[in-house]
Amino acid sequence: MGSLRRIFVLFTVVLYLSSSTSSFEIVASAQTPNPPLTPPTENVTVHFIDVGQGDAIFVDTPTLDMLVDGGSRAAGETVVDYLQELDVTRIDIVVATHPHADHIGGLITVLSEYNVSQIPLVVDSGYEATTVTYQDYITSVGQRTFQTVARGDILTLDESVYVTILNPTSPLEFDDANDNSIVLILQVYNVTFLLTGDSEAISEASIQAAGFDLRCTILKVGHHGSRTSTSPAYLEAIDPDVAVISVGEGNRYDHPHQETLDKLAAESLTVYRTDLHGTVEITTDGVDYSVKTEELGPSRSRELTLFEGWNLIGLPLTPEDPSTEVVLADILDKVTSVWAFDGETKTWSSYSPGAPSDLTEIVEGRGYWITMTEDATLTVRGEYAHTRELALFEGWNLIGLPLIPEDPSIEVVLADILDKIIAVWAFDGETKTWSSYSPGAPSDLTEIVEGRGYWINVNKDVILTIYGDSE
Ligand SMILES: [Zn+2]
Repeated sequence: MGSLRRIFVLFTVVLYLSSSTSSFEIVASAQTPNPPLTPPTENVTVHFIDVGQGDAIFVDTPTLDMLVDGGSRAAGETVVDYLQELDVTRIDIVVATHPHADHIGGLITVLSEYNVSQIPLVVDSGYEATTVTYQDYITSVGQRTFQTVARGDILTLDESVYVTILNPTSPLEFDDANDNSIVLILQVYNVTFLLTGDSEAISEASIQAAGFDLRCTILKVGHHGSRTSTSPAYLEAIDPDVAVISVGEGNRYDHPHQETLDKLAAESLTVYRTDLHGTVEITTDGVDYSVKTEELGPSRSRELTLFEGWNLIGLPLTPEDPSTEVVLADILDKVTSVWAFDGETKTWSSYSPGAPSDLTEIVEGRGYWITMTEDATLTVRGEYAHTRELALFEGWNLIGLPLIPEDPSIEVVLADILDKIIAVWAFDGETKTWSSYSPGAPSDLTEIVEGRGYWINVNKDVILTIYGDSE
């Protein structure tokens, strides 16, 4: 990096970045900085806005805020409306990852709706296009500072939030717009996000070869889940917990490609897709993170019908799954009592009379009895809240099915896992007692169906299939 550029970058800082804690700096080595020394004073939220086919990611920190891409031109109003709903009056940095229409199109609207003092700085890859959309984007930048960034640049959004630019290189390494995408790591103390634009395999390899520590908590999957991105070695180096795919329903590219979904599934990641989950918000204090989605999505939620009377709600007990959330809020006025199960002592303790005041207690309890004054629908969110396939882990697992009224359509398919079962207990809805089928698995599977509430002890992790209308 030349000294001229360094001077310009520092000049930018003085003129346009309001906070004294915020700056660009240039690092000599291709390494992400050490994590910030302290967690943020307030939570940081990253919004993966549902813009259909395209990307628009808003990063809300206690100090500076950043918008990475704005979706397509058609999505511009959606992005502006979303930001206004959040009462965003200033976006300190707008990042245009690359000049394709599904990334910069919506920025034209954003840059028009917010004035120069509200969006003072546009950060760009430096890759120019000849399209009308690109020309309109450049026009909408107007008098703002237009800053090209490159590998090794670091932006400080907050004392506890760093952004490191991993791509493109300077000068640009590739002919292709996608591969010159701005790729960045957002470090929020110890929780990290990798935002990839539409970077594909060749630029992923370049980033990896540069020696960056790529390990991240959350990955925005490259190029809307195209098979041309997310190389196995790259994914292995990132080793994320969560993957977010920003993609439009029924898009003409057939994104996300099955190959990519298979790669993510092989790593046992939790995958969120804007076409299925709507806008995805990930909030972090720099240590833990939580995920909120606009729509529940098919693989992450389960709606359980609770009937007047006793209902058993089972969630896998082992291992601990902090992603599971039982959403009682909607039915609190119908709950008369709740019992929770202690996995260690294998005993039930009562929250009754009345509903618990603290819903997080419910989440920790893991196995629940709920009594209701009338029928209601309970929402269970979480990785293991599958509708029909339930992960059983080595050890004891509680499987709950609605007990009242009788539902003959429910069928628990034990056949596939019979050789892994050590013991099964079944619950009697009338006497409210458990009886054991152990030792060994039951010979007659229909007995299991009639029992309705089950404890199952398996000798290794397996998938149990449940069919039925009342899942
Ligand atoms: Zn794109």
